[in-house]
Amino acid sequence: MSASPQNKPRGCATLVGAGPGSPDLLTLRAVRVIKQADVILFDALIDPSILDLARPDARRIDVGKRCGRHAMNQAAINTLIVRFAQAGAHVVRLKGGDPLVFGRGGEELDSLRAAGVPVEIVPGITAACAAAASLQIPLTHRDIARSLHFVTGHGSDGAVPAHDWRALAASGGTIVAYMASKTFASVAANLIEAGLPAATPVVAIENASRVNERHWPGTLGDIADRLAAEQPAGPTLVVVGEVVGLAQIVQETVRLAA
Ligand code: SAH
Repeated sequence: MSASPQNKPRGCATLVGAGPGSPDLLTLRAVRVIKQADVILFDALIDPSILDLARPDARRIDVGKRCGRHAMNQAAINTLIVRFAQAGAHVVRLKGGDPLVFGRGGEELDSLRAAGVPVEIVPGITAACAAAASLQIPLTHRDIARSLHFVTGHGSDGAVPAHDWRALAASGGTIVAYMASKTFASVAANLIEAGLPAATPVVAIENASRVNERHWPGTLGDIADRLAAEQPAGPTLVVVGEVVGLAQIVQETVRLAA
């Protein structure tokens, strides 16, 4: 029987934040939606135990991208979500961190809205918050950092975007650079030229919240060389600002306890 507009199954999509990696940092709402899904399109680095929450008959599709190797391009992902939803499925688009922070969730949202597919969003813990929690860095702190800036180190052409470096340097706030482990030399040079001292405390953190988490403390002037030497292969953030100095005692405690 061909479906008329009246009895056509009405699909929908949910953009779900899977958090920074550790499965127990998933929200209860994310768990509920994952359990309901007919189809799950998931990113690279989504922990397998998160996918195990899905119904056994749910279709799982890996659309993950890592280090420039594109498993599926963004346009193809957008089309796929819309197609499954239009066929009547509840599609879960499972994304690392929060779906609306640097994850191209906005483009997925645009294409779902354009196609008239009902869409909901489940927020997730963004990597900056996971990194701050792991290292016990208050991202804002009275008198030390009154604003928080999430910047990307990777524009659509792969180079560092033309941020307003002067405004960032003058803000006195904490700067968290996503996707910047390979371009941080340029980010640092721009910030120093804009007036931020080379001695500003910085920490790079790889795989925040995961069992293989690593971090490298340094300064704005030296962290790029450290990153070039260490070449972190996992997702890595760089936190810049005086608040990073507040992590030192805790790092020491963690090291002593380890
Ligand atoms: N939507 C995601 C960000 C996607 S962009 C979020 O809200 O977290 C991908 C970048 O996020 C990576 O290049 C890295 O800079 C950062 N990232 C994601 N997970 C991370 C993790 N567990 N540890 C450190 N950085 C992470």
